[in-house]
Amino acid sequence: MPTIEKDKVAKIHYKLTNDGGDVVDTSEGREPLEYLHGHGNLVAGLEKALAGKAEGDSVKVSVSPEEGYGLPEDDLLVDVPREHLPVEDIAPGMRFSAETSGGMRMFTVMEVAEDSVKLNGNHPLAGETLHFEVDVVAIREAEPEELAHGHVHSGGHSHEEEEGEGGSCGEGCGCH
Ligand code: ZN
Repeated sequence: MPTIEKDKVAKIHYKLTNDGGDVVDTSEGREPLEYLHGHGNLVAGLEKALAGKAEGDSVKVSVSPEEGYGLPEDDLLVDVPREHLPVEDIAPGMRFSAETSGGMRMFTVMEVAEDSVKLNGNHPLAGETLHFEVDVVAIREAEPEELAHGHVHSGGHSHEEEEGEGGSCGEGCGCH
């Protein structure tokens, strides 16, 4: 029976809750999530917990911020001149990606002042302990192109949360 290991593609149903018991994200009602194991496509603590699991296994794991989305960093709270932002109507809660010295990063608009905007480049779940419940639905071999790109190419995956680590696709990649 195949088990989850580096360079295998696993299909999982998952539910993510925070310390308060709120469901933050879930695959319920959607197709299961497919991901390429061992390439940083899931937070480190979850990948670690899934390694060695087989089809039909259920995993319950709590992941510390250090192995999740990190701890909030003060230097990711930035004020930028309003004219540096590409959109006219800026409101708190809006998110967009921007190039930083550390690569592409998602920023959330925190406050809008007359001529400046306060942005938060921390992940919305930074500092949170992540409680995952995962069912392993299927495991398959990865395609060579998936290994080259470092992510799966089956339908339904999203590049939205990518922050510039790995996963840069060449010409002709149909996954964008
Ligand atoms: Zn790709």
